[in-house]
Amino acid sequence: MRRAIYPGSFDPVTNGHLDIVARASRLFDEIVVAIAQNVQKEGLFSRDERIAMLETATMSFENVRVTCFDGLLVDYAHEIEATAVIRGLRAISDFEFEFQMALMNRKLNDSVETIFLMPKEEYTYLSSRIVKEIARLGGDVDAFVPDFIATTLHRKLHA
Ligand code: ADP
Repeated sequence: MRRAIYPGSFDPVTNGHLDIVARASRLFDEIVVAIAQNVQKEGLFSRDERIAMLETATMSFENVRVTCFDGLLVDYAHEIEATAVIRGLRAISDFEFEFQMALMNRKLNDSVETIFLMPKEEYTYLSSRIVKEIARLGGDVDAFVPDFIATTLHRKLHA
């Protein structure tokens, strides 16, 4: 069984994340999308809200499940017997941070490989942060997130 972990904040999940999930799900037997609790950076959504949103958004993928973890990513990867970490690379601006993380994780555990996947071009400028900003200012985020996320965002920010 080839299992990979796709860690992140997912606050909230966007079409960019889902593009990476789709690509990864074709490469591995199982993808574990894992919400990192220690990098919660005062998220807009709670852990449970993010889990519920991710579960709904990834429902059509039979080999994808959603969890959360705290502590070191490589420790969690080892615990669930994942041999790869999936990360999305949008632009050169992601590279330096991701490169550092990947090499540090390799130093911590050499048996977990980091794999970078590129999303469709139209998602390369997309981030949860920018989606929240647009929604907060009353803009339309329908093209960037699943419909139910757009509704949830609107409810959360303008209730
Ligand atoms: P983190 O706080 O770990 O960056 P995010 O939820 O922002 O968490 O992102 C999780 C992963 O998904 C990261 O590897 C990030 O580069 C990737 N990612 C985020 N948005 C996109 C996107 N639009 N296209 C491709 N990858 C993305």
